[in-house]
Amino acid sequence: MPDIIQLLPDNIANQIAAGEVIQRPASAVKELLENAVDAGATEIKLFINDAGKSLIQVIDNGKGMSDTDARMAFERHATSKISNIEDLFRIKTMGFRGEALASIAAVAQVALKTKRAEDETGTFIEIENSKVLRQEPIASANGTSIAMKNVFFNVPARRNFLKSNAAEMRHIVDEFIRVAMAFPEVLFSLTSNGQQVFYLERGSLKQRIVQLLGANYNARLVTVQEKTDYLNIYGFIGKPETAKKTRGDQYFFVNNRFIKSGYLNHAVSGAYHDLLAPDSFATYVLFIDLDPAQIDINVHPTKQEIKFEDEKIVYAFVQAAIKHALAQFSITPTLEFDLDPTIQQLDAVNKPFTTDKQQAATASDIFKNFTQKHQAHFTEADKKNAFQHWRNPAENKADEERQFSSLLDQVRKEENTDTLHFAPAGTSSPVLPDSPLLQLHSSFIVATLRNGFMVIYQQHAHERILYEQFIAATEGKPMATQRSLFPVTLQFTPQDAVLLQELLPDLQLLGFLIESFGANSFVIQGTPADVLQGNEKAAIENLLEQFKHYSSDVKFSSREKVIRSLVMQQSIKAGQRLTEKEMKILVSNLFECRQPNATASGHPTYAVFENDYLFKLFGK
Ligand code: ADP
Ligand code: MG
Repeated sequence: MPDIIQLLPDNIANQIAAGEVIQRPASAVKELLENAVDAGATEIKLFINDAGKSLIQVIDNGKGMSDTDARMAFERHATSKISNIEDLFRIKTMGFRGEALASIAAVAQVALKTKRAEDETGTFIEIENSKVLRQEPIASANGTSIAMKNVFFNVPARRNFLKSNAAEMRHIVDEFIRVAMAFPEVLFSLTSNGQQVFYLERGSLKQRIVQLLGANYNARLVTVQEKTDYLNIYGFIGKPETAKKTRGDQYFFVNNRFIKSGYLNHAVSGAYHDLLAPDSFATYVLFIDLDPAQIDINVHPTKQEIKFEDEKIVYAFVQAAIKHALAQFSITPTLEFDLDPTIQQLDAVNKPFTTDKQQAATASDIFKNFTQKHQAHFTEADKKNAFQHWRNPAENKADEERQFSSLLDQVRKEENTDTLHFAPAGTSSPVLPDSPLLQLHSSFIVATLRNGFMVIYQQHAHERILYEQFIAATEGKPMATQRSLFPVTLQFTPQDAVLLQELLPDLQLLGFLIESFGANSFVIQGTPADVLQGNEKAAIENLLEQFKHYSSDVKFSSREKVIRSLVMQQSIKAGQRLTEKEMKILVSNLFECRQPNATASGHPTYAVFENDYLFKLFGK
């Protein structure tokens, strides 16, 4: 028998390695932007075509590469950023693994142009499938331009895995924002299919945040600034009124690197304590700088998760810093009395943090709460309640009217037409025809059955009804649209604009007539019949927020998410008083549903009390 083991050819090995680093166009965007930052660029321009599927190009004015380095850069494990293992613990750059360019060259067609200031001419390299096709000197500006074309052209399985352009573009915008946020001293621009999406002038961190997250944050940010020997925390947190129903605007950077940390997120939300409505999320952009030796960023190829040498200390610092900031700006006068005395004792906020103090701190009470290693799981608990707030009565009158007008419309129709006739209960309804309905506590409807009675929870019932109507709409029974008399043009943040674009086809089936108008604006030509005119903006923003709620939920299709979001938005809430007629229609519509007994997410819509049971209660 011959021996069977052989070494993989370089291009295959690189392709396999690329799987970890370049999962989608957005991962390449992140790597290329970070390389430009590492090269000391003060201007970084990103060009995207077809959501990165046909082109991703980054042009920077950084230090450029020599012709040999330009060739070397595409080798696996080729980096100028570390040279020995100790360097790993002093990392000051964004990159260091030397894998990005090799991975990109393994799965795309790449053209590199680069020139150092000290060189007369620049270098041009064309490379695909890890093979150099061309290398020659050319005239070029100082800096580097890398164009990456037709990502995964040679790995069809991965190319097929890419999502819709809108979805991939959303990932790209996310990555762009994360890098741009961390380097406000660098000018960034993003151009997609020839259209400028972002142009971010150099400025302060606060200006950058407002550029990226929207002008409504302008007067609503509180400065966080704490310096200690152990670490520095700085950045901005949103005043409680900026809290959102989704985790959207939450950014943590450790040594300028965007990270995801449920654990630190918990520290921030804990600091807000009861300043936030349940199930709403504080906005924050926080930077933690500490000795690179105190962290391990090497735990994940895309470097989004890091290990802290001592995460409990970081947790306590973050929480103390946020509490301090909130108190200082007297977001609430009562907060001072709520400050945890153990935190005040910690002096984390304004005294140097020596090794002694560090020990004292770890011994103190505050840490007793944080002794479990994986505190991040903690955040799972509040996810379950994510929809709690939808059970609360609508917050303002306009909302109430809007949620309710579809039922009112039907009532009106019934009053105005002889032909349209609602039987008090459909044939399938167990409710006794012509029996009165009673509303209790503006939330429950009591109905008489042949053999007992039924309590219907009005909100759940309406959710079921809307859900089936919307499903029917997407299956060919489009919802009625009311054309706006005066079409409004709405401006969205680039992130929301990309998302909205993605949802347009489904929204159209559901009665929204929205047209893209370029540069993040949309013209609202019409809305579902039950959205109040003049309320379009709120309705659509609210819908996007709802949608983001579900966005981590992989089990739903995007269409299902849109439908569920609309249901949540438009359903009658508990606390809404109903007329007799409205109750009749609600009950009748409920029992015309295919599955009247529960909402789409499985909450019961009614409970039945049979006579047998009732008699038994009284010993009969
Ligand atoms: P890493 O960033 O981890 O070092 P990369 O594969 O991303 O690995 O890049 C390899 C090397 O190529 C870098 O270490 C750097 O020396 C060089 N390089 C990459 N992009 C640029 C750029 N835009 N400007 C200057 N040098 C660059
Ligand atoms: Mg890199």
